[in-house]
Amino acid sequence: MNPLLEIRDVSLSYHTVSGETRALSHISFHLMPGEFLAVVGPSGCGKSTLLNLICGLLPTEEGTILMNGTPPLPGDPRIGYMLQKDHLLEWRTIYRNVILGLEIRKELTPQKLSCVEEMLKTYGLDKFRNAHPSQLSGGMRQRAALIRTLALKPELLLLDEPFSALDYQTRLNVSDDIGRILKQEHKPAILVTHDISEAISMADRVVILSARPAHVTRIVPISLSLKDRTPFASRSAPEFKSYFNLIWKELNQHD
Ligand code: ADP
Ligand code: MG
Repeated sequence: MNPLLEIRDVSLSYHTVSGETRALSHISFHLMPGEFLAVVGPSGCGKSTLLNLICGLLPTEEGTILMNGTPPLPGDPRIGYMLQKDHLLEWRTIYRNVILGLEIRKELTPQKLSCVEEMLKTYGLDKFRNAHPSQLSGGMRQRAALIRTLALKPELLLLDEPFSALDYQTRLNVSDDIGRILKQEHKPAILVTHDISEAISMADRVVILSARPAHVTRIVPISLSLKDRTPFASRSAPEFKSYFNLIWKELNQHD
């Protein structure tokens, strides 16, 4: 099987008036179809930069990024991007927020709209379709943002610390929710997080980055002996603690 996404020897420097900031240094890894990768690394190491390169928002100057053999372009329809802030528009209802991406792309087809209907029902937002974002909890808003992204049928989802603005309890519930949804939709994803537990509980493999300029220090495959591997159940898997210690050590070793 060929990888869905290949990142080969990618480096990046920002050039500003105050000089050069080297953000990424010789990053290489790949993502297989259907795989869920987590990328962990200290704050400011270059995680968002890496996602911006993968989705084509930043041009690749050193190295190669290929998705199914071709480099991603800015606004690449193959890639969905979800950020820490949900960016829902307060003056639109939840329904009109969820279809916003389709509207912009002029893709309001009966087939895509019926997909949206299905997701609203399955993920518990149908009753809130006429509500405005401020009437929803943080978790529901994140779900709405996810449906808006999935409505565009991306082949790959990039998640940039999507839960970090939520309080701890909501965060656990929402990451569980989102993990289930992505599994149900068989959506390959790259989750960037600085939360080790979140990474282990959701990912098939965890890519560990060093402090800036980020390089890959280790890639840890996660295998948990659970029948039903939901993010929440993963946290009580017998292997969880040793993965946590391994990743913790790896992150601190290179400080
Ligand atoms: P992370 O997401 O891991 O916290 P970022 O990718 O946002 O890290 O940033 C990595 C480094 O690059 C930081 O030192 C940041 O200050 C710097 N940086 C990010 N964006 C820019 C930019 N547009 N111009 C200059 N420096 C930047
Ligand atoms: Mg970031």
